[in-house]
Amino acid sequence: MNPPTTVTPMLRLFDTAAGTVRPFEPRTPGKVSMYVCGPTVYGPPHLGHGRFSLVFDVLRRYLEWSGLDVTYVSNITDIDDKIIDRANTEQRPWQEITESCEAVWYRAMDAIGVKRPTHDPHATAYVEQMVALIARLIEAGAAYETSDGVYFRPLEVGDYGLLARQDIESLQVGARVDVVDEKESPIDFALWKKAKPGEPSWPSPWGDGRPGWHTECVVMSLDLLGEGFDLHGGGQDLCFPHHENERAQAVADGKVFARHWVHNGFVMVDDEKMSKSLGNFTNLLDLIDRYDARAYRLLCLQSHYRSPIDVNEKNSAQATAALERYDALARRIAGLGDGVPPDTATIERFVGHMDDDLNTPRALAVIAETVTEINRRLDIEDIAGTEPLAAAFRSMLVAVGLTVDDEVAAVGDEAATLCRQRDDARAAKEWARADEIRDQLQAMGYVVEDTPTGTKVRKG
Ligand SMILES: [Zn+2]
Repeated sequence: MNPPTTVTPMLRLFDTAAGTVRPFEPRTPGKVSMYVCGPTVYGPPHLGHGRFSLVFDVLRRYLEWSGLDVTYVSNITDIDDKIIDRANTEQRPWQEITESCEAVWYRAMDAIGVKRPTHDPHATAYVEQMVALIARLIEAGAAYETSDGVYFRPLEVGDYGLLARQDIESLQVGARVDVVDEKESPIDFALWKKAKPGEPSWPSPWGDGRPGWHTECVVMSLDLLGEGFDLHGGGQDLCFPHHENERAQAVADGKVFARHWVHNGFVMVDDEKMSKSLGNFTNLLDLIDRYDARAYRLLCLQSHYRSPIDVNEKNSAQATAALERYDALARRIAGLGDGVPPDTATIERFVGHMDDDLNTPRALAVIAETVTEINRRLDIEDIAGTEPLAAAFRSMLVAVGLTVDDEVAAVGDEAATLCRQRDDARAAKEWARADEIRDQLQAMGYVVEDTPTGTKVRKG
């Protein structure tokens, strides 16, 4: 389902570090290495998790559709203060919490169609390498030990504040000053936290303890993707301090870090009345239960990835209805356009928008226009004209990771033929013949439905 070879994708993406849209140029032609900060597994995934997962899944799928070989790394943070707190509150082993939350995470990701990462490194499997990095940072004078851990000195990193797009003085003013604090500056952050009695811990030269969150991702991304990997992504809330602090450690360690930084916008949930009526609507699992599991992807695509999105009952229902129209079209064009090259002009317009900093709202508009045009041509029985458009429709959906349900095609040729014959009989008002075919389909084990787009069957 690749675009025609006449189309050369020239993706331009906003780069947070540069503060501007610029060409995305992979380190190795034809290959893309990307790292997206994954979940801390201590609770169910919320809508913000769903959005970053979908935004970067769309980017990954688009790059793959464009013919690039993508290595996608997204970590699992399986040791963290919040995990320890929950384990203490519930009097359960912390591993039981991380394992069950990770299983829920992947069930939700599978449901919304997010491809599994190429690698999903777990923080607890990388502690030795994190200890080695921290030792090098102390050696280099970038970090120091206190009675409760090891801290990093961002003041030593010349361009600290690059991702926050603030200078170091204003960041220092904003930093929280703890009452009892051995930190040299409020802006310093923990690389290693010494364990209190009963806490999970790993050995280190500074006593048993656990790594700080910012140290995980810098170690795992460089280990799996190598220096100067192509893209580091996450939600806008991770920009500072998390990504800034990852980057600062890499700089202090003399490493070339990510070459392009991509951040997606926030998720808003509608007004108070709405959240009351929907209860725990910020939970991704609830959204999947209430609406078509594909609806959230469509909602995300309808907004630019850097803009905030609003999720509410109305637009979730509208997205579900829009997907039903795609499904209806997919059934109408079942068998049409297979093996036919997609319409070049349509694909070029689509690629033009996607390459423009992933302008998915405009790319979706191209898909919507294609749907209208296919229906128009089918209405005048222009089959030859429909086929390249049908191929383009399917190809564009693949590029953004939207699946369509064209059950008629999926149920097999014989049933599909019978459905068409039944539709012909109904069109000719041959009711007895139509009923006869319905009985025949039911005898084959199908549930038969009349829909505005004709006879639809599914295995009962
Ligand atoms: Zn991270």
